Amino acid sequence: MNHELPPRPPLGTCTLVGAGPGDPELLTLKAVRAIQAATVLLVDDLVSQEIVGFAKPSARIVYVGKRGGCKSTPQAFIEKLMIMAAREGENVVRLKGGDPFIFGRGGEEVEHLQAAGIEVAVVNGITSGLAAVTSLGVPLTHREYAHGVVFVTGHAKPNDAGTDWRALAATAYSAKLTLVIYMGVSGARRIQDELLSGLPANTPVAVVQNASLPSQRHVVTELGKLHDTIEQEQLGSPSIMVVGDVVRGVQIAVDGLKTQAA
Ligand code: SAH
Repeated sequence: MNHELPPRPPLGTCTLVGAGPGDPELLTLKAVRAIQAATVLLVDDLVSQEIVGFAKPSARIVYVGKRGGCKSTPQAFIEKLMIMAAREGENVVRLKGGDPFIFGRGGEEVEHLQAAGIEVAVVNGITSGLAAVTSLGVPLTHREYAHGVVFVTGHAKPNDAGTDWRALAATAYSAKLTLVIYMGVSGARRIQDELLSGLPANTPVAVVQNASLPSQRHVVTELGKLHDTIEQEQLGSPSIMVVGDVVRGVQIAVDGLKTQAA
């Protein structure tokens, strides 16, 4: 009798890695190690070249983002690629901007990979909403101004009503919460109008574009002037909008940071 087991198909691994907001120095050690160990990398468009540069020269790099004039790769196709590569025994890294589990569709990817029988690991990254305010020298929470923080998307799925800004404004006001809005600049007019139902027009807002990168820009304004300021200053994606009293400290903090650095 032949007791030999049938050959098992090679099974690779798949790791969702948070690449942070852009500055390579904000990567975790785990992220760098995972990138260095990868044989196949699927890279989102908010991930900088310097970070991709940690991959070994022999690694296969697939860009799946939509910037640079290309249409973004459909999510289902990205997931299929990951599953196929892992089944071929590759060490797959899915490199995503910020944290994979904050508006990164990481949750969907994990579900689909697991359903295909592939083991998945996730490495956290610094989410851009946190990095954006920190780069201005202000905290997201503060015992005086903010008892908590809400990470919220300004961009709804097609056919979805999206965020209930009025309910959020009322809660943010009564519960003293900082609002950190991702993907919000293109919808800023509507977000402003609806938030004004529950928050005062002079509520401070910061908009930070390209947080942590050499191209970073920011403005500080008030909720009542948000859309006009974005137009005047020509801020675009990727930007984070931060709404709440913690932003009042920005100018003082930025000046303070400069003095310290000088
Ligand atoms: N997973 C990511 C978010 C992906 S959604 C994270 O945790 O950061 C994409 C949105 O993130 C952008 O529209 C923008 O709102 C924000 N974003 C990502 N990188 C950014 C950066 N460097 N500066 C400002 N906003 C950024």
